[in-house]
Amino acid sequence: MLLIKNGLVYLDGNLTKTDILIDNNKIKAIGTGFEAEQVIDAEGKLVTPGLVDVHVHYREPGQTYKEDIATGSRAGARGGFTTTLAMPNVIPTPDTPELMQQMVKANREKGIIHVLQYAPITAGETSDEILDYKGLKKAGAVALSNDGHGVQNARTMYLAMQKAADNDLIVASHCQDDSLFNHGVINEGPKATELDLPGISELAETTQIARDLLLAEKTGVHYHICHVSTRTSVDLVRMAKARGINVTCEAAPHHLLLSDSQIPGNDPYYKMNPPLRSRSDVDALVEGLLDGTIDMIATDHAPHAKKEKTGDMRDAAFGITGSETCFSMLYTKFVKPGIFALEDLLDWLTIMPAENFGLENCGQIKPGAEADLAIFDLDHPVTLKESDYLSKGVNTPFTGQEVYGSTWMTLVSGQKVYERGN
Ligand SMILES: [Zn+2]
Repeated sequence: MLLIKNGLVYLDGNLTKTDILIDNNKIKAIGTGFEAEQVIDAEGKLVTPGLVDVHVHYREPGQTYKEDIATGSRAGARGGFTTTLAMPNVIPTPDTPELMQQMVKANREKGIIHVLQYAPITAGETSDEILDYKGLKKAGAVALSNDGHGVQNARTMYLAMQKAADNDLIVASHCQDDSLFNHGVINEGPKATELDLPGISELAETTQIARDLLLAEKTGVHYHICHVSTRTSVDLVRMAKARGINVTCEAAPHHLLLSDSQIPGNDPYYKMNPPLRSRSDVDALVEGLLDGTIDMIATDHAPHAKKEKTGDMRDAAFGITGSETCFSMLYTKFVKPGIFALEDLLDWLTIMPAENFGLENCGQIKPGAEADLAIFDLDHPVTLKESDYLSKGVNTPFTGQEVYGSTWMTLVSGQKVYERGN
């Protein structure tokens, strides 16, 4: 048996100083007065349910020079994540039950945390061919997404949603109308003009969200919007929820932490899709989280090789890594100044993704649950260093920041999968 003693534990929505007794892979009891052969003294630390991230890219198979399941999951563990949901934009994309079976098996064998898997919405992720959702689900897919691509054809999305609803699968959408994307690099606006870069109109995102919300209303599917990034997107979701549409959405840390005005120059580490938006959009995301319009935070961890993220922004890949900076950056920039309550931030990273995605056995600390825990050090600042990242990708603009809330230890099924300094 293993005892985690003296930690400040996030339990049933409250922060409580207590101990957690772990027997094999499960939480056996919570309270004080226990004894065990193995003791971890978490005095002065925050003990939380292992974080849950419904949006990561692990690049395996096909682009393992960027990341693979082992390194991606190690990066997750270092960020306090114990369950992640991997996007299917790998090569080949798992769009048949056979490929899905192989993907799920690889995730289970190579991941040091629980790595769950999306299936694509359509064959090859860009076609209009609806897939065998029943077979994909049976093979282990937990939700559907063409992330990286919007579904361009409304009828395709409508049919996909109908079939997903019949199979009780979530459709998670990267909303992007290619006809409005303008080969853009950063947000359309003063910064794009200043840097003389092609701008991405917010309409590329918002018009597709508006379309999909109406399709979701008609089909009754659970429709989830990946990385909402604009004020109008948040307004649309707020309106849809008021209408009773079965919609959830996520915000990415970088869209909360940075606006396009903070892009220092033609620097690919600031190139993401959706792009960093205006200050007003950032404020709307914060408001959306606080009033419950935005349900969760997900990183969109998108590792790339250095050569793909250097040079001119026009030629660079979209995306930044997120697993290893998410909690500490958000804790430092939002909880410490009193914008978010720590409890809320934890909910957006644990119980909200777990419950909204129907993920069993994760997202909360309770007797009988899998012993998936993260332990954070809130008191001692650390500097985010490139040499410390466990991801193969070092493409994040947050390197060099001094942060509180670094991960001290992560346990999956009662086993240490990350320990600071080791
Ligand atoms: Zn995306």
